[in-house]
Amino acid sequence: MGKTITIKPGCITCGACEFIAPQVFQVTDICHVMPDAALAEHEPAIVAAVQACPVNVIQYDDDSQVL
Ligand code: SF4
Repeated sequence: MGKTITIKPGCITCGACEFIAPQVFQVTDICHVMPDAALAEHEPAIVAAVQACPVNVIQYDDDSQVL
């Protein structure tokens, strides 16, 4: 699998990602990625959240090449 989500600096806590993928994102004072989120299972919602983020701070990576 090897997918990771990184929230880059600049989140404005708008809540869009949590609205789209509540099993993956939790927005409090900042945006968190749930530690146990099943990323592969929620991939369509994650991609939608990446596209919906107004400040483009959600980075969705495939790190399977990492040594
Ligand atoms: S959609 Fe983007 S700006 Fe909004 S809470 Fe999520 S990470 Fe933050």
